[in-house]
Amino acid sequence: MALRHELPMIEPRPIDPDTPESPEYVMTSLAGAITLGMEKGKFARSETVLRGLNILMTYQENCVANCSYCGVSRERRVPREETTFIRVKWPIYQVDELIEKTNTVPHQMRRLCVGMLANRQSLPHSVEIIKKFHDNTNLLISGLITASLIKRREQLEAIRDAGADRVDIAIDAATPELFEKHRGRPVKGPHRWDHFWWVTEEATKVFAPGTVGIHIVAGLGETEEELLMAVQRAQDLGVVTHLFSFNPEPSTLMGDQPQPPIGHYRRCQLGRYLINDLGLHIHHFRFNSHGQVVDFGLDPEVMDRIVVSGRPFETAGCPDERGETACNRPYGNGRPSEKIRNFAFAPGPEDIRDIQEQLWMNWEGEDGDAAATSTMD
Ligand code: SF4
Repeated sequence: MALRHELPMIEPRPIDPDTPESPEYVMTSLAGAITLGMEKGKFARSETVLRGLNILMTYQENCVANCSYCGVSRERRVPREETTFIRVKWPIYQVDELIEKTNTVPHQMRRLCVGMLANRQSLPHSVEIIKKFHDNTNLLISGLITASLIKRREQLEAIRDAGADRVDIAIDAATPELFEKHRGRPVKGPHRWDHFWWVTEEATKVFAPGTVGIHIVAGLGETEEELLMAVQRAQDLGVVTHLFSFNPEPSTLMGDQPQPPIGHYRRCQLGRYLINDLGLHIHHFRFNSHGQVVDFGLDPEVMDRIVVSGRPFETAGCPDERGETACNRPYGNGRPSEKIRNFAFAPGPEDIRDIQEQLWMNWEGEDGDAAATSTMD
């Protein structure tokens, strides 16, 4: 994996002093901008309905952190206008304009996610923007917290008091070693694993039960067992996991790395669903010596029913008032031309057939069971 010490030195991106910045402006997911009629485009699958608007703070210098996989990381070498995040364009709009569109354009969005960057001003700016949307729209609001900015519980209370009913903490890497490698000292980043978990636990004391989540990105070098251990750790705190599949952004430290194998991702999705939604414990699962799931500890017929329901493979994200995922992030993990990893809608019969095939791909089998090995992707 190419990390900083292996990279050639490249001149930093020039900073344009006229760049619009938060708190007046924010980046908006392309899907959100299309749904609000601010960008042209439509979704490749007609059943896609965007139900969550994702916005992100924006600053001339990008994020001051330097996470190896991130499109807005400090040392990413692309011109501002070519900046992407999770591989799609995030156009910049005035907050007031977004609020106006939210209130005038017909749409089905039920939730807003306000994402911070690791810049010092990002916390007060997020609080200000959350309050503005809370006072002027009827969207439910999540705060996507950069934990390194949080030093005291009162800062979480300020996010709640501004109008957020939920928060997510993007822990992203599943183990302390991977967290350090991708987000900590080796990439000259400010983030520390223990602090992110401390903030997660503090958040459970400020927000109502069941309203705190973490993000984990599959494909940063973890095994399935390691990823599901992180899911279980969060679940034991009453915290759900929203799962992402790593998707390489050009010109980042991880820009030339592949996505995780689809079999790895499907088994992580299924394990996450069983732990978060059906209350199974990781102790029910059995793993091989590669850390891959061998058995989820369920009767095969029950397993079949769960897989055929498609639910484990739908996007896990913050919900609407009825508990259905509102933050469904269509094409957040891959291009429309690729097989869908997180379904923003209920998978159809053809999707389910794909999922059934994919579930045991890239699998080494039971230890010593060479015949079960599959390397298809
Ligand atoms: S803190 Fe978040 S936004 Fe900043 S570089 Fe890391 S992942 Fe990207």
